Amino acid sequence: MTAKIISGTEIREQILEEIAAEVKEIKAKHGIVPGLVTILVGQNPASISYVTLKIKTANQLGFHEIQDNQSPDISEADLLALIDKYNKDDSIHGILVQLPLPKHIDEKKVLNAIDPDKDVDGFHPVNVGKLMIGEAVFLPCTPAGIQQLLIRSGVKTSGAEVVVVGRSNIVGKPIANMMLQKGKGANATVTVVHTATRDLAFHCQRADILIVAAGVPGLVKPEWIKPGACVIDVGVNRVGEKVSEKTGQKIAILKGDVDFDAAKQVAGWITPVPGGVGPMTITMLMQNTLKSLKFRLGV
Ligand code: NAP
Repeated sequence: MTAKIISGTEIREQILEEIAAEVKEIKAKHGIVPGLVTILVGQNPASISYVTLKIKTANQLGFHEIQDNQSPDISEADLLALIDKYNKDDSIHGILVQLPLPKHIDEKKVLNAIDPDKDVDGFHPVNVGKLMIGEAVFLPCTPAGIQQLLIRSGVKTSGAEVVVVGRSNIVGKPIANMMLQKGKGANATVTVVHTATRDLAFHCQRADILIVAAGVPGLVKPEWIKPGACVIDVGVNRVGEKVSEKTGQKIAILKGDVDFDAAKQVAGWITPVPGGVGPMTITMLMQNTLKSLKFRLGV
């Protein structure tokens, strides 16, 4: 068997087109567009490239977009005051503070200061709680992207055995919770495994849908995959560098948590790395910002 490849790059384009069309419609009817502010503290190169991509996508979609760059020396009090300013700004519907923050700033305090109605990352405890009870407005972006990949690829989730490898607050726990809810792209029987799990292979072998977010390159072996299963590889691991044929510049060689070449001979569906889950995260951030505006307008 050769697995169907689930292309996050293609599904991203579908969703971005849908968002752009809705933005146009809302602008025509209500005279307002989604507003997103990205707060970047310092000059971390990975954060800069991530933020640049967010800004580019927001601009393409016709959002009102603010990039607020702050010095690494900004005090915690000044950063909290800045967030308060955007909490009160009616043209802003999504506030994103790029992590990590400098050591002298308490990340938790900063994230908790964001108005939950503008928390488009879905990390505020209020939104985490709403997710748990099935009342989420903002689903956290990477898990939301995974769910869209499943829905739009026609993978049956209702009644499926879902095994999630990893229990982080940004991927493992929220995706496990989402798959557990009654509803579209969910309604599954969910198992979460981690470093204290006794027999990882045993659990993975039971999975109709195996979602792997461990950050360990090649952790999942092909013999751990049930024939025909859907494998979602969230892992992004830098395993070396190569020179890009296009630009001549050095670029990272990325590998997932699953041995892709061998796994695709066993699985029914599989996401590649890169080009699978990765492109979905920023897409869902845009979706959440649009949702925030719609929520505000009551449409
Ligand atoms: P994390 O916070 O480091 O959590 C990793 C989880 O995997 C932990 O719960 C850990 O268990 C578990 N784990 C690690 N090694 C394991 C092993 N050998 N056996 C069983 N469980 C193991 O990582 P994360 O933030 O969730 O990210 C996971 C991966 O996804 C990373 O490669 C990251 O780069 C990638 N990622 C990609 C995107 C994207 O594509 N947009 C977004 C987010 C993350 P314990 O809890 O027991 O330590």
